[in-house]
Amino acid sequence: MTNSLRLRFMMKMRLDFFSHVLLMLMGLALCESCVSQQEYAANYARGPRFKALVVYDRHAEPAHVEFDKQAIDFFRKLTYGEGFKMDVATSLSGFSFESLREYSVIVMLNAVPSSKEERALFRRYMENGGGWIGFHASAYNDKNTKWPWFNEFLGCGTFYCNNWPPQCALAVCDNRKHAVTRNLPKHFVLPPSEFYQWSPSPRHNKHVKVLLSLSSKNYPFGIKDVVKFGDFPIVWTNKDYRMIYLNMGHGDEEFIDANQNLLITNAFRWIVSCDPKGNPFLK
Ligand code: ZN
Repeated sequence: MTNSLRLRFMMKMRLDFFSHVLLMLMGLALCESCVSQQEYAANYARGPRFKALVVYDRHAEPAHVEFDKQAIDFFRKLTYGEGFKMDVATSLSGFSFESLREYSVIVMLNAVPSSKEERALFRRYMENGGGWIGFHASAYNDKNTKWPWFNEFLGCGTFYCNNWPPQCALAVCDNRKHAVTRNLPKHFVLPPSEFYQWSPSPRHNKHVKVLLSLSSKNYPFGIKDVVKFGDFPIVWTNKDYRMIYLNMGHGDEEFIDANQNLLITNAFRWIVSCDPKGNPFLK
């Protein structure tokens, strides 16, 4: 074969190869468009996907009840279109284990199970795959609480200190790969709240994943009661349970910020999506 013949042969081979690749790519593109025409992106529920129980304490301090009422409105708006069934209660008394386990999630708004029976019921619910979102004083405990399991469940110690009065604060996302925080900015300013520190901090618990903290740039933090230093986790999950705790929940200005509202919706959706009975959003 002469040099020019060899060159022409090689060019033809290369052209054949490229036309094959081009045809394959066109075929793949056609398949993609077939799939996207067949499968619509949204999945519309035909009925409520799950049940949620919202619990608040009507005898809590007035600023907590203000938050609770706004939170109930917030979650009720999430039910528009009957996406889920929501019940509201002022305690867990009156529920049996069977009736409680129908709920994919219990949202505790500044409320803590207090009687021996309620504590036992709540523990049984959580140890059997129950879901919990706690706000603010729903994790409050001190030396008088005398419920060691509750600290194991929360992943932190007793109440240590707080800022006063309620004020805005710079938050830092500790983990932006998590479903609850991945669509939030690294830093954002939270609406006015009273924030609690705990001793020991949940950060020291190997079962805990901290998702959001107050930045040390906030120090000195407060006007009357001033927090001057310390690690300040405010949103975390204890991986041993289907739970998430959010420290905000004081006063009537908590639902004025899009980032915080998104965080709360994400937390609610994530807890429900991890239900061992199945992820209701895939139905
Ligand atoms: Zn408070």
